[in-house]
Amino acid sequence: MDQLSTPKAGRPHGLGEILNDGYALTDHVVVDENHTFDGNNDVIEKLITGFKTFKEGVFKQKPELYDKLRVGQEPKIMMITCADSRVCPTMLHGLEAGEAFIVRNVANLVPPCEESGQHHGTSAAIEYAVTVLNVKNIIVMGHSSCGGIKALMSRDDFSGDFIGSWVQIGMPAKAKTLSLLGDKPFEQQCSFCEQEAVNLSLANLLTFPFIEERLQSGHLQIYGMHYDFVEGRLTSWRIEQKH
Ligand SMILES: [Zn+2]
Repeated sequence: MDQLSTPKAGRPHGLGEILNDGYALTDHVVVDENHTFDGNNDVIEKLITGFKTFKEGVFKQKPELYDKLRVGQEPKIMMITCADSRVCPTMLHGLEAGEAFIVRNVANLVPPCEESGQHHGTSAAIEYAVTVLNVKNIIVMGHSSCGGIKALMSRDDFSGDFIGSWVQIGMPAKAKTLSLLGDKPFEQQCSFCEQEAVNLSLANLLTFPFIEERLQSGHLQIYGMHYDFVEGRLTSWRIEQKH
């Protein structure tokens, strides 16, 4: 078996001490040209090999880009997409590092602006992208065969797990879908709801005062998209301000 690279000297494991008894942090290595694999985990080997390819390729070929990114980021785009592994926005849209601030969650849902609760990961990302990074475009992108939307459409009881309490944000989209397509097959309802859930998220974006303000002043544009990876089709639409 190959030797694992030497752990970076002096790097303590910090909060490793808060792990439950019986666990410890180990194999802390810096991936450099001398790094070799211990054969423990093929997936980690694939990730590290991918990183080495990136570092020798794109990273070295575009020094101007990566020099600029060292100083900071100025993305013009914020995207909210699903965590689904088949939806890969940087690859899909040909984006480079630094171009898009991306949040991925289950079913690409945006919750309404609310002060209650503690763990508003998506809302915190939206706040940072809009008020600190000053992105000019927010895109919420749904997709075909979304498991989160299937959960929303198929469940009656949303208690008892994290998925249920999260996807029930989309209840107004489910209600609209059932009112219009209540007699249609389940797959057709889900497909419709995927876009309705994006519309709901667009409406929820407007409940954040700093977003509505920038939309009205023309400093921000808000788009919905739906990516159908079965048909290879992208649909795009946007919020227009009525005069
Ligand atoms: Zn999904």
